[in-house]
Formats: sequence, structure tokens, C-alpha cells
Amino acid sequence: MKAWVDEQVTGFGMSVGGPAKVLRPETVEQLADAFAEVRKDGGNVALRGAGCSYGDASTNVGGRVLDLTRMNRILSFDPASGVAVCEPGVTVRDLWRRSIRDGYWPRVVSGTMAVSMGGAAAMNIHGKNNYALGSFGECVRSFELMTAAGEIVRCSRDERPELFHAAIGGFGMLGCFTRLEIETKRVHSGRMRVWGIVADDLDHNLQILEDLHEQADYLVSWLDFHGKGVALGRGIMHRADQMQPGEDPDGLRFFDPALQDVPTTLFGVVPKGWLWPGMWAAVALKQVHLVNWLKFRAGSGEQRKSPYLQTHGAFHFLLDYVPRWQWMTKPGGLIQFQPFVPKAEASRVLRRLIEMCQERGFVPYLGVLKKHRPDPFLMTHAVDGYSMAMDIAVSTNRRRREELWRHCREMADIVLDAGGRFYYAKDAVLQESSFAKVHGGDAVAKFRALKQQWDPQGMLQTDLSRRLGV
Ligand SMILES: Cc1cc2nc3c(=O)[nH]c(=O)nc-3n(C[C@H](O)[C@H](O)[C@H](O)COP(=O)(O)OP(=O)(O)OC[C@H]3O[C@@H](n4cnc5c(N)ncnc54)[C@H](O)[C@@H]3O)c2cc1C
Repeated sequence: MKAWVDEQVTGFGMSVGGPAKVLRPETVEQLADAFAEVRKDGGNVALRGAGCSYGDASTNVGGRVLDLTRMNRILSFDPASGVAVCEPGVTVRDLWRRSIRDGYWPRVVSGTMAVSMGGAAAMNIHGKNNYALGSFGECVRSFELMTAAGEIVRCSRDERPELFHAAIGGFGMLGCFTRLEIETKRVHSGRMRVWGIVADDLDHNLQILEDLHEQADYLVSWLDFHGKGVALGRGIMHRADQMQPGEDPDGLRFFDPALQDVPTTLFGVVPKGWLWPGMWAAVALKQVHLVNWLKFRAGSGEQRKSPYLQTHGAFHFLLDYVPRWQWMTKPGGLIQFQPFVPKAEASRVLRRLIEMCQERGFVPYLGVLKKHRPDPFLMTHAVDGYSMAMDIAVSTNRRRREELWRHCREMADIVLDAGGRFYYAKDAVLQESSFAKVHGGDAVAKFRALKQQWDPQGMLQTDLSRRLGV
């Protein structure tokens, strides 16, 4: 039996988490042994994928953590259907590198390719096409789940549909995905046609999402939260469309995974791993507003040369261009606050949140606006509306940190009062009292009943699940 190792296990934002005993099983048998050991001790354990959740979704301070990154084999890929069967530690990068060779791309990808299939299913992640193709769970055909009792159960839309729709998005509470059957989509070029569109303010951004969503394959806006008055909520919208068959014959050579991957050097010389200290200086010297202003101005130039061609990898994984970029918020780290707000309330609520951040000196250094549609999963975070991701640096000063948490909770109340929701991959601040407000009392009662059925001893826990009182 492998030994549990003492490690520091934090969220991606480095602002929450702490010491835990970690084990990295490589096979289903080793995973079953680990579950048996935890059951025997009567303790609890957190499941962890690539650790890309910003907050405490896969941390377990003082407890145990099962890191599934070594169960990372693609068991099969069918070039006729584009369906992959994966172990949970297979990453988005592993999957697209396998599928693109046969002219397929994952239907739903996150902003970083480091995310694992297990983590993607457990959080039911979304991409820049959520309004069109839905969430990650919608491209999962079936999965096998190891329950707390160590039993493997198979789930699909026909087989145990209730568990299927609750484990996807169930943040690792109902069992461990050990094998997932995932659909990808056909692409006819290794590149897409991309437009940069300057959006003068928040309403302009929302209007572009509404105007283009029926034609565009992907839409996402970068927001400059330093814009005030008539410029409040300004940004650069990016639209990307896939190519039709035969439209981009030269694009076929980009089915070579090496031509899709984001480059590791800037101008072919400077290792990108060296860029974060420059970004750190911008944060530490409070010059983010200047960087954002320059980026916004550069948007006009991009708009003029649009459309242009970009590989799928370059379009989707912008954040992977700068390895360890999150270190720019050291030593305090960062949190991300991502409210999901129904369409009718979006302009009012999102505007108010930006104003509150500016009034209180917690201006996010990065913002992302997306359009969403509802999905059929029990613990869904999706709404027929929009999400606005806000990355905020955390101070090492305890009082200022507490103020930030209070500020986020006040913003959360406004969102919840407007019928909005939250996404636990990005949360670090919600309290137990918000859990039922996010999902509705009935959904929470059903989820708790399933937890009682499949994990009666409460073996699967995380810092997040305890914070929410699951
Ligand atoms: C730079 C960056 C960009 C991102 N962009 C997006 C985006 O565009 N869209 C989006 O939706 N999200 C995005 N995310 C968030 C990310 O997709 C989610 O946090 C995702 O869940 C991370 O997967 P992971 O493998 O790192 O899992 P972890 O963060 O380690 O765990 C996430 C959850 O999954 C559970 N879990 C992990 N493995 C299993 C398993 N095998 N069985 C059952 N439960 C399991 C854990 O207990 C935990 O609750 C981004 C994150 C980063 C850092």
C-alpha cells in the first residue's frame, strides 16, 4: 500500500487551503484500497483533480486528499464518432492532443487546459460556448463512479439518471469518477476565424452577446474594471467561428498537436515562465489600471485587423500563455468571484457590483463576461443570463482580507436576491446560509438525500463542503 504524504494543498488562488495528507493512486484498485483505509479509520477524504479550482473545492485542511492526476490514461478514442473513454486524471490538454489528430476538438473546454476530466465533470465546467453547446456534463455520455462503500456504479442518462445528474456538478460529494465517456465535436480546420470587438461599456458588452449569440460559435469578453462613468464595464469582446468543410484547406496541417500548443517562449526567445514577475510588479505597484488601459486601447487595433485566423489552442487557452501567472498576486494570492445573473437583472446587478468594487478599493485586476444557458444538472450554477468573473488580489493584512470577504458576501446577497447563482469552482466566500438560496430548497434537499444514500458516513468532504454545510 502506498503511503500518505504530508503536503501543503491550496486552491489555485493560493489564498485558502493548508496542510493535508496526500495520496496519488494510479489504478482503480489503489483507489479502492485508499477508500477502504479511510472507511476503516472513520475519517474523511477530499477528491482532487488538477487543483485548478480557485478556492477550497479540493482542499481539506488537516485531513486527507486523494490526488487523481496519476489515473490519467485515455482508454480509447473512436475516430469515427469522436468519443473518448478517459480515466479521471486525463486533462483537457491530453484530450485535445488526442482528438485533434482525427479532426475533433472537445465540445467544452475551460480557460486553462490543465483541468482534469474528473474535476471538469464534478464542477460541470463551461466554456466560451456555454450559451450554444451547454456545459461539460452535456457531453458526458456515461461514467463509472466509485462510491464511498468502494462499489463501482455505472451511470448514464438511462442508467441511474438521478445519480448521473447529481454527481455531475456534485463537487466530489457522491463518489469518485473512475472512467468517463466523453463526446468531442468535429472540426474542419485546426484554426478558427476570430474577431476582436471593442465594447464601450457594460450594456454594449451585453448587447453584443445578444446580437451575436445565434451566429457565433464562441463569445467571451475581457473587462476593464477600472473604467468609470460612461466607460463602466468596457472591454474587448472576442468572437470565434469554426470553419466550414473546405473553407480553410491550409488549416488541416494545424491538426498537428505541436502546432496547436501555446508557445513556451515570447518572440521565440524569452521563456514565458519569466513573465509573471513583471505582472507581479504591476499589481504590487498598483499599476493594473495602466496595463488595462493599454490593453483596452490595443483593442481598436485588433478590431481593425479582424477577422484573423487563430488555432483552437491559442483562442481557448489564453491564460496558459503565461505559466504561473497567478503568482503575480503573491504573497496574499487571489480569489475569483463569479456571479451568474439572470438576463433581466444583469445590467443593473453587474453594474452595481462593479461600482461597489470601485467604491471599496477592491477593483478586480481581471474580468471576464460570458453568456450562459440553463442545464439539467441538480446542483447547476447556470442561468439563462450572464456570468461575470472577477479576479481580486488578496491582502496579507488580516483586517483587509476580512473586509474583502465581507465585501464579496455583500455582493453575493445582491446576486442571490436577483435570482442569481454561484459556481463553486470559483468560490471562497459563500456561507452555509447561501447554499439553499443558490440552488433552491428542493434541490438541496434532494442532494442531501443522495449524499445520505451513497455516502452515509460523510466520508467525502472538502473545506468547501463543510463551509456550505453539505
Ligand atoms: C486559469 C483557469 C481558468 C479556468 N477557466 C474556466 C472556465 O473557462 N470555465 C470553467 O467552468 N471553469 C474554469 N476554471 C475552473 C476549473 O475548470 C474548475 O475548477 C475545475 O473543476 C478544475 O478541475 P481540476 O481537475 O483542477 O479539479 P479540482 O479543482 O482539483 O477539483 C474540483 C472539484 O472536483 C472534485 N473532483 C476532482 N476529481 C474528481 C473525481 N475523479 N471524481 C469526483 N470528484 C472529483 C473535487 O473534489 C472538487 O470538488 C478555470 C480555472 C483556472 C485555474
